Amino acid sequence: MTAASLVVRPLDGARYAVTSGDHAYTVDASNNPPACSCEAYRYFPKARPCKHGHAVLRYRAEPVAGLLDVLTEDATLDLVDP
Ligand SMILES: [Zn+2]
Repeated sequence: MTAASLVVRPLDGARYAVTSGDHAYTVDASNNPPACSCEAYRYFPKARPCKHGHAVLRYRAEPVAGLLDVLTEDATLDLVDP
């Protein structure tokens, strides 16, 4: 069993769009933990980030790792070796 991969795209400021399959969520990383528009974040205690918040935290720690998932192979090669 594999989880649907999450794609993180920066919006403005500390906001990010996180796409999971057909679902898209907005994460505000200026909150701690990051505020998310998903139901898990809305209905569960806010002590820990939801998986989308986690994806954004990982993206912020390692932006290139997040980019590699969304770029084409050529774009990735340009990024690594312009
Ligand atoms: Zn979420």
